[in-house]
Amino acid sequence: MTHTRSANDSSRTIALIEDEAPIADAVAARLRSEGHRVEIAHDGPSGVELVQRVKPDLVVLDVMLPGFDGLEVCRQIQRDRWVPVLMLTARDSEADLVIGLGVGADDYLTKPFSARELAARVAALLRRAARAAAEPVDDTPVRIGDVLLDPRSRRVQRDGVGVHLTPTEFDLVQYLAARPSRVATRGELLEQVWGYEIPSGGRTVDSHVRSIRRKLGADVIRTVHGVGYAVEAS
Ligand code: CA
Repeated sequence: MTHTRSANDSSRTIALIEDEAPIADAVAARLRSEGHRVEIAHDGPSGVELVQRVKPDLVVLDVMLPGFDGLEVCRQIQRDRWVPVLMLTARDSEADLVIGLGVGADDYLTKPFSARELAARVAALLRRAARAAAEPVDDTPVRIGDVLLDPRSRRVQRDGVGVHLTPTEFDLVQYLAARPSRVATRGELLEQVWGYEIPSGGRTVDSHVRSIRRKLGADVIRTVHGVGYAVEAS
């Protein structure tokens, strides 16, 4: 089966994996009102099965699920084929865990959230995925110390050894590396890398930077206190 889509066709297939029926119903209703097709699963195993079956454009995934949890769902679905994932977390500490484990989630929302905020995050993730697919920007490999980024393959090596970065982590390092020695504020990074700006979003940026440092070394991104982050020219 092949899919053809015109550039301005904004209708997408979204897999929603959430065991709390009132939340699942509210989220599905909102996303359907935006013109998306929404398929729902209520536990971990059927969520993985759903994603494999419908090959969605985006997954909205609760962390605490019966069967196995959302982190395991994320690991399993990202192994087969990359898909943007928006995680729903019960607490901010869970959100740190989600990002920190590097299971492949691109963004998260902490409950309770508004349907409007969810719709905005979904739209931003879909826009970013479409943009990443459409535009091969400057695809010259970038070196930061012992780290090599290849924009073309979106692969990363450290000391010649492959390192897995999530799509958001890759975009974040690439954005900073493309502007060596220039400090980017958290607001700028949210707008340019995530595609939206929210007051609490600085936490999201900080969590991703911590995760990148764990994978690529503490000195790959410099913190400029009170301002933001930078990658030095090498
Ligand atoms: Ca749950």
